[in-house]
Amino acid sequence: MIAAAGSGERLGAGGPKAFVQLGGRPMLAWSLVALDGATSVQAVVVAAPPGAEDRVAEVAEAAGVEADVVPGGEHRSQSVANALEHVDTELVVVHDAARPLVAPELIDEVVRRLEHDKDVTGVIAAAPVTDTIKEASRSRRVLRTPERERMWAVQTPQAFRTEPLRDAIDSHPDQLGTVTDDAMLVERAGGEVLIHAASPENLKVTTPLDLRIAEMVLAERRG
Ligand code: C5P
Repeated sequence: MIAAAGSGERLGAGGPKAFVQLGGRPMLAWSLVALDGATSVQAVVVAAPPGAEDRVAEVAEAAGVEADVVPGGEHRSQSVANALEHVDTELVVVHDAARPLVAPELIDEVVRRLEHDKDVTGVIAAAPVTDTIKEASRSRRVLRTPERERMWAVQTPQAFRTEPLRDAIDSHPDQLGTVTDDAMLVERAGGEVLIHAASPENLKVTTPLDLRIAEMVLAERRG
C-alpha cells in the first residue's frame, strides 16, 4: 500500500505532495511503478488525499499500474488503516509516496526477509545515521546523546504481517495523531521488528531541497 494522502504543506507546492512533478511525472507515479516492479507485490492500494481519489486513479492509469484507491485519513496511520481494509494478503508492505526513489529490489528484500523469519512481525528499511543525535526537552535542553552506532533513520518500505498491524492500529485510536511510522504501533504492542539496512538514497521528499536532490538522483539514474 502507498500512503499518499499528505497535504505537502512543508514542500510549499500549494497542493498534495503526491502530485508534485518530479522527473517529468507526479511524485506518486514513481512509487507505483516501483511497487509494480517488485516481484513480491500482488496488488496495490493507494490512500489518496481526500477528494483527490480520481486524480490518483488517473496517475496510476498513466503509469500503467493497476491500483485500488481509497480516501486517506486526517493522520498518516488513519490513511494506512483505511487502505488496510482493502488488503486480504497475509503480508503487507507499506510505502510512503514521499519516497519516490525506492527501488523494487528494496521492497522485495523487506518482504522476503519477513517471509523467512516467522517470529518477526515487521521488517523496516532504515539507513545508519551520520549525524550525532541528541534528545532534548521541549525547551531544547539536551537530555541525552544516544550512541550513534545504534541509531537508524527509518524509511519505508515497511513490511508487516497484516493481522498484527491491523490489531496494533485498531488498539491505539487515540495515538494515531502522534505516530510517525507503523512499526511504532507494532513495537508498542510487543511485536518484534527488524531493521533492514537500506541506502540513504531512498530519501524522503519533505522540503524544496529534498525535491532538488531527488531530481538530481533521477537525472543521474537516467545517465
Ligand atoms: O507527513 P509525513 O511526511 O510524515 O508523511 C509521510 C507519508 O504519509 C507521505 O507519503 C504522505 O502522503 C502520507 N500521509 C498520508 N495521510 C496523512 C498524512 C500523510 O497518507 N494524513
